[in-house]
Amino acid sequence: MKFKITVLPGDGIGVEVTREAVVCLETIAKKFGHEFEFNEQLIGGVALDKTGVPLPDETLKACWVSDAVLLGAVGAPQYDNNPPKLKPETGLLGLRAELGVFANLRPAFLHEPLIDASPLKTEIVRGTDLLIVRELMGGAYFGQPREITEERGLNTMAYTAPEVERVARVAFEAARVRRKKLTSIDKANVLESSQLWRKVVTRVAADYPDVTLEHGYVDSCAMALVTRPTSYDVIVTENLFGDILSDEAAVLTGSLGMLPSASIGGKVGLYEPVHGSAPDIAGQGIANPLGAIASAAMLLRYSCKLEKEAKVLETTISKVLAAGYGTADLKSQPKQVSTTEMGDIVRRFVGES
Ligand code: NAD
Repeated sequence: MKFKITVLPGDGIGVEVTREAVVCLETIAKKFGHEFEFNEQLIGGVALDKTGVPLPDETLKACWVSDAVLLGAVGAPQYDNNPPKLKPETGLLGLRAELGVFANLRPAFLHEPLIDASPLKTEIVRGTDLLIVRELMGGAYFGQPREITEERGLNTMAYTAPEVERVARVAFEAARVRRKKLTSIDKANVLESSQLWRKVVTRVAADYPDVTLEHGYVDSCAMALVTRPTSYDVIVTENLFGDILSDEAAVLTGSLGMLPSASIGGKVGLYEPVHGSAPDIAGQGIANPLGAIASAAMLLRYSCKLEKEAKVLETTISKVLAAGYGTADLKSQPKQVSTTEMGDIVRRFVGES
């Protein structure tokens, strides 16, 4: 099959890790007889330098006509004092809004060799493999009215039934290709928006009889994530709760450099590692490319519908870690390698699988 991918390396280590992810996709294409057409475009600080805006029209146009977008990271200290419209991060927020991606998927998977990097006890965290589906375009971050005066700050947490239904469907579909268990997290004992959320998710469940649905409250979920993380498969939740819970889940599994994400639901899916542009290590060739490579695996799964190919790439990451390889952030790994060496090793293992 043939796919058009827009590549947005962005700033700092975004450039270094995206390069490795692209070559991994080429290796997968060669192995399985697919064709990827890559179109590299500007976003973030590098776009500001070259065009004066953080999200040029040409970039947006390229994204619209592609099957998926693979992004590195944006941001650099020299733009920190820019007005909001001229910040690199504004480019990324604008891109997410333009693409209409309403579901943010953040897996938290513990690779056995990295178990000592987890802040949790081994017996609690071993086997953690969960996916948080966060609603991305509604809730308190966008609800109207919003207001700030000297005496009062106001935000509105509001959801409509269609907004809940569409993200619930993404979560049920994701659970279907995993362990078929979905936990919907809300605060329905206090919040009306959560009561609607619970009602709609329960109604949608009728279309997915093969998936077991349970409901939970966000406060107890926050505790359960650090006391029994293995009890979760897929979690679906609204924007603010998802923001907090996905960061909590992320730290369970070790290094920030390992974590992938997908933002889907709009016309074109956006795939990016969770980490930023890491100016402190940019240009040194030591960044961990595995989060970007795992994001490429999510791209294969959700935008290209290539589940087998996605699994091969994910399993390869596990095998590379099990063989002892690691970048500087994975200190416990005995075979320390550079960013490009790590990319090469992943590709060699894919070839041998
Ligand atoms: P960061 O994620 O860039 O870095 C945090 C720490 O983790 C740093 O010490 C960094 O060296 C380390 N790190 C991150 N990714 C790594 C990797 N792949 N391999 C090894 N180590 C890694 O967060 P920050 O320092 O708070 O932000 C730096 C810049 O990135 C800021 O301009 C910020 O706005 C931006 N940012 C962008 C995104 C994004 O593009 N999605 C996300 C977060 C931050």
